[in-house]
Amino acid sequence: MVNPLVERPFWETKTLAEMSAAEWESLCDGCGRCCLIRFEDEDTGEVIPTRVACRLLDGDTCQCTRYRHRKRYVPDCIKLTPQNVGELKWMPPSCAYRRIWEGKGLAAWHPLISGDPDSVVRAGISMRGQTISERELERPEDAIDYEASDLLDDGG
Ligand code: SF4
Ligand code: SF4
Repeated sequence: MVNPLVERPFWETKTLAEMSAAEWESLCDGCGRCCLIRFEDEDTGEVIPTRVACRLLDGDTCQCTRYRHRKRYVPDCIKLTPQNVGELKWMPPSCAYRRIWEGKGLAAWHPLISGDPDSVVRAGISMRGQTISERELERPEDAIDYEASDLLDDGG
């Protein structure tokens, strides 16, 4: 029998659009997967990620090094919002925002469930220490050599 006194967490009771700014921010697990270079397969339309990271991503912390002024350096960086999350088909399947949009809920490794930010690393979801920067490539198109279809997994 369900205990009516146990309150369900906000990510189970609110839509993305209904969340407060703080709740919205807390959904990001800091995995860094949305900051990877991607390709689109011309025939299938499938979006294929690589392990090459945006020039502004710090590969050790998975944080954007110029978040506030990033548009100055990366004009096509898109801010995720409740309004556009359903349209951004390239968002990583493991991303909490995408998972909630798709009705999957949060995975067991998500810090809001585990209570531990490092559970993202232990689950192999975080890109910490697993990327190379696009600044290291000779030509931008060389990123395809680092294709990482395994990142299409939604993380369970
Ligand atoms: S993929 Fe989603 S959860 Fe991961 S860093 Fe990007 S916005 Fe945050
Ligand atoms: S500019 Fe910053 S937030 Fe945007 S993709 Fe690059 S590292 Fe990520």
